[in-house]
Amino acid sequence: MANSKFEYVRHFEMADNMLPSTWLVVRIDGRGFHRFSQTHNFAKPNDRRAIELMNRCAIEVMKDIKDIILAYGQSDEYSFIIPKSSNLYSRRSSKISSTVVSLFASNYVMHWAEYFGEDKLQYAPCFDSRTVCYPNDKVLRDYLSWRQADCHINNLFNTTFWALVKSGMTEDAAEKHLRGSFSKDKNEILFVEFNINYNNIEPIYRKGSTIIRQKTEVTSISPRNGEEVKRIKLIPTAIYDDIIGQEFWDCHPELLAEKRR
Ligand code: ATP
Ligand code: ATP
Ligand code: MG
Ligand code: MG
Repeated sequence: MANSKFEYVRHFEMADNMLPSTWLVVRIDGRGFHRFSQTHNFAKPNDRRAIELMNRCAIEVMKDIKDIILAYGQSDEYSFIIPKSSNLYSRRSSKISSTVVSLFASNYVMHWAEYFGEDKLQYAPCFDSRTVCYPNDKVLRDYLSWRQADCHINNLFNTTFWALVKSGMTEDAAEKHLRGSFSKDKNEILFVEFNINYNNIEPIYRKGSTIIRQKTEVTSISPRNGEEVKRIKLIPTAIYDDIIGQEFWDCHPELLAEKRR
């Protein structure tokens, strides 16, 4: 298209390319999800449908944006990991953030009814997004450990808080009761007062969700001869492992490998 005399305004756009050869992490987070979860009657402390919908959105984002190697989600947030070698959108920060978050939000609306059935979506959900670069594997792992530790701290608090509230305590009283308490105190309240062993709570709640591209056997029908063909494909799949310890990274050496397919 011919240039117009107006085109000079393009130069007002600032370059925002992220440093090369660094890990990129896009974190999206629901805006005002405390209210959103109340309006939509989320079960407390954890609404399984809401978690599974978040996971579905992350899986759809990974199916679309192939550069993402792993995603980690808990509560109303998801982090998407893009490797050092990626040149996605020339590593432009706002292009990456806005594309990921927009895809996530539209999937949230599109798939809502599959998870919430008759419970209608009351208003348009919104998520914010940022892209941060992390210079080496250690800080990337520390980033993910930070999010999973946050999941643990919040989930232990919320599990204890809602157990107290459901047993008849007011929300204010439960809040006061837990103020300044340590992990061991909350574990003890759960065990002694409610006969709940925190370690037996499902990992999806305690550990959050990690989406990795898992080798999966898929069967399709050949259009040529109508025969079944079995192939191994990499399918984004949710797992609920500990990602702070070394074991997860030893089991998935491809995640931090320099050379990618
Ligand atoms: P902001 O706009 O600053 O992010 P927010 O209200 O979204 O504010 P967050 O700190 O992001 O606050 O917390 C998200 C809130 O969403 C949680 O405190 C919790 O109340 C709710 N929430 C998210 N996921 C679930 C879920 N699966 N089950 C129950 N509640 C949930
Ligand atoms: P990118 O992902 O780089 O933005 P793009 O395919 O979205 O690529 P754009 O330069 O944004 O390319 O152009 C948008 C295209 O969408 C137009 O070229 C046109 O083909 C189509 N389009 C947008 N709005 C309309 C419309 N109202 N009617 C018909 N076509 C439209
Ligand atoms: Mg939020
Ligand atoms: Mg949040």
